[in-house]
Amino acid sequence: MPDDAAVAALKATLRGRLLQPGDPDYGEARKVYNAMIDKKPRLIARCADVADVIHCINFARKNHLLVAIRGGGHNGAGLGTCDDGLVIDLSPIKYTRVDPTARTVTVGGGCTWGDVDHATHVFGMATPSGIISTTGVGGLTLGGGIGHLTRKCGLSIDNLISADVVLADGSFVKANAQENPDLFWALRGGGGNFGVVTAFTFRLHPIDTLYAGPMLYELSEAAEVLKWYRQLLPSVPDDLNGFFAFHTVPPAPPFPEHLHMKKMCGVVWAYTGPLDKAEETFKPIRAFKKPAVDLVGPMPHPALQSMFDTLYPPGLQWYWRADFVNEISDEAVAQHVRFGAALPTMHCTMHLYPIDGAASRVGKTDTAWNYRRAKWTQVMVGVDPDPANNEKIISWSKSYYNALHPYSAGAAYVNFLMNDEGQERVKKTYGDNYERLVAIKTKYDPENFFRVNQNIQPG
Ligand SMILES: Cc1cc2nc3c(=O)[nH]c(=O)nc-3n(C[C@H](O)[C@H](O)[C@H](O)COP(=O)(O)OP(=O)(O)OC[C@H]3O[C@@H](n4cnc5c(N)ncnc54)[C@H](O)[C@@H]3O)c2cc1C
Repeated sequence: MPDDAAVAALKATLRGRLLQPGDPDYGEARKVYNAMIDKKPRLIARCADVADVIHCINFARKNHLLVAIRGGGHNGAGLGTCDDGLVIDLSPIKYTRVDPTARTVTVGGGCTWGDVDHATHVFGMATPSGIISTTGVGGLTLGGGIGHLTRKCGLSIDNLISADVVLADGSFVKANAQENPDLFWALRGGGGNFGVVTAFTFRLHPIDTLYAGPMLYELSEAAEVLKWYRQLLPSVPDDLNGFFAFHTVPPAPPFPEHLHMKKMCGVVWAYTGPLDKAEETFKPIRAFKKPAVDLVGPMPHPALQSMFDTLYPPGLQWYWRADFVNEISDEAVAQHVRFGAALPTMHCTMHLYPIDGAASRVGKTDTAWNYRRAKWTQVMVGVDPDPANNEKIISWSKSYYNALHPYSAGAAYVNFLMNDEGQERVKKTYGDNYERLVAIKTKYDPENFFRVNQNIQPG
């Protein structure tokens, strides 16, 4: 542990705040999005700029402190914090710069996706992200990045053009196709294993208003809906994205009162094609079966991106398990229906996100993200505000996962792994790319300085 004089010296050096136990706002600062995570770092550095990050890394190395990197703090496994170590909190490094001519956006390492959508939407453009606007750009991107635009534009990493990175030895480098291409390859899926990314540059797409929103069906129709969905989705153009879900209808508008708190299934659609073709595109979808709720219509991209924000504010208890899926068999449908009908609390859910379309046309060795041939990633999400329900939501999530795992592709999206799943799961997730990742880790971080992550151990 560093002595008080060393801590005081670091504090004096930083532009951002350095918090430690006993400081009035330490309790608030140590919280991450998932309230099930209860870690007590020795120090939390609210880094204001790249210089602060470099000072923190050098300090931690010299004082043998464990380091956790915090972007948006959303990681389900709580990898944005640690006990007794130094949290490099990037949240103050929040800036965005859109180049409308080049169609790029450069964002600070502490931005959330809401920050990015706000900056790009005014130019009528967007880059692919996740489905909740409070998620950090950092963790989501470095793990891959799946969302409403996956089929149209690929994963977030497929749109990453360049990154600024502070390495374990405190040096600053750029990673892109020309500079440090090996590092650039590894960053695109390899998580926070290689350094602290202080800035990301993404490609933008002319996406402004989509035709989007949820369609909900009765639970009794779930098997029929899921069987129809599994056939339909891979056959439709990339313009149409839709993830299947089980949800309890929230007791609030815009949902009709008679459906409040009812368990239902549905598809959350996002159509990026020409708006004047939207009604026609949705004709066969609406003809398949009349949904009990149809909230699909024109929607600005940031509205779609923040649609789930109110339902899932920070501070809930989260536990999830996940897998990649190649096909949804009849047996898998039966298990989904069984567990979907048993959502244990109002916030619990299951999402099946498509990862085909543009994401599947990137080669599996082009980036570190290996499962390019899988068609979906499914995640069984146990969520509740009350810690008293933790056992219930964890047990449901694990049982659901165990029932579906035999029908899966055998590995999971790294950003949906928990921290109790073991090293073998991480290796499986990277598959053939794992050895190459180990070699790059050994080059850039031979001491495994960055190890609060889904860890790639150096050789
Ligand atoms: C409510 C919710 C919704 C989600 N929805 C989606 C979704 O739609 N699509 C999807 O793909 N994922 C989704 N996720 C998963 C999400 O991608 C991961 O949880 C991700 O780790 C969150 O990133 P963060 O920066 O907020 O996390 P943090 O907890 O801040 O960081 C997680 C880890 O990422 C690494 N990291 C973060 N920032 C940096 C950086 N700048 N430099 C280096 N390493 C860094 C570190 O290793 C860190 O330990 C969701 C998660 C939640 C909780």
